[in-house]
Amino acid sequence: MSGVLVVAEHRRGSLSEITSELITAGLELRSQGAGEVTVVVVGANAEQLATESAGEGVSEVVAVSTSNAEFEPHVTQRAIEDLAAELQPEVVLVGHTVDGFGFAPALAARNGFGFAPNVRSVEWRDGELRARRGVYGDRLVAELAFDHSPVVVAIRPGEYAASPSGTAPTRSLVSEAPALATHLGYREVEAGGIDITNSEFLLSIGRGIGEEENVERFSQLADKLGATLSASRPLVDAGWVASARQVGQSGQTVKPQIYLALGISGAAQHLAGIREAETVIAVNTDPAAPIFNVAKYGAVVDIFDLAEELESRVSR
Ligand SMILES: Cc1cc2nc3c(=O)[nH]c(=O)nc-3n(C[C@H](O)[C@H](O)[C@H](O)COP(=O)(O)OP(=O)(O)OC[C@H]3O[C@@H](n4cnc5c(N)ncnc54)[C@H](O)[C@@H]3O)c2cc1C
Repeated sequence: MSGVLVVAEHRRGSLSEITSELITAGLELRSQGAGEVTVVVVGANAEQLATESAGEGVSEVVAVSTSNAEFEPHVTQRAIEDLAAELQPEVVLVGHTVDGFGFAPALAARNGFGFAPNVRSVEWRDGELRARRGVYGDRLVAELAFDHSPVVVAIRPGEYAASPSGTAPTRSLVSEAPALATHLGYREVEAGGIDITNSEFLLSIGRGIGEEENVERFSQLADKLGATLSASRPLVDAGWVASARQVGQSGQTVKPQIYLALGISGAAQHLAGIREAETVIAVNTDPAAPIFNVAKYGAVVDIFDLAEELESRVSR
């Protein structure tokens, strides 16, 4: 057994960023002795995408053409199973993404492979794989070792830099696997013209605001301060704030200069979205809230008291 199999991800005809991040992770493993890196693209337009997904240093790209136009988890699973049986890789790298969730656990369970989801980094050390992931709200890092291979490792988006593009020999295969699900269409997220990923100053509200009617108050405060309003997931799930404003693992990854977190506890899934924020300022009544672990400045203050102060002092 040798080598790393990277499963490319794509949607609507374009490769997703995670693909080139996974290639970077694969190439790191290669440089540490894990063997060659093969990339597999499964889909109706696999051959065209295969030429785009060859990162510098990749030894081969395998294009598995399918009859289903959109991503279908069972078909992808079958294609990876067949390729893994042929290549016998030590590691299969997939994205810790909605598509990855669709096939990676089943791939591992059905074939008796190792499995590690939500991984932040991988290393090939002394001839063995190590995978690191955050635990206890990302306050500790757990290092996982495996007693058999291959191991399917699902890596979180944004953990690795994009790999430089390059060329690699391409091989074409055709999938005979039937799709077990039908893709009905895409439903566009109601963005309402808001793109919080480009904002330099985000005023982000969490469950600490208490009631839906308080959203408007903090929205006005954001306007007054020249900030864009964003929110944690519970506010979006409750329908209080548009989903385009959600920060976190299942929302947006943001990179503002200032991230002002008001009444947000700092759960791992929220922190996943603010790792690239330059300065996090946290305001929370609970001094033990995990958000303070990532904040440059923090205040143990009631957010309503803070709002009152700011409303009276800032005129805009
Ligand atoms: C698969 C999965 C994906 C997820 N994706 C996301 C995601 O993308 N984004 C996300 O945000 N979450 C996500 N979550 C949910 C996440 O685990 C947390 O539940 C969520 O982030 C908590 O939101 P919160 O901090 O607003 O609420 P809470 O955890 O309830 O925290 C509220 C905070 O407000 C403080 N507070 C209360 N009143 C006041 C006051 N008056 N003044 C000051 N502070 C006050 C409290 O001390 C507390 O710390 C996900 C969960 C799962 C399982």
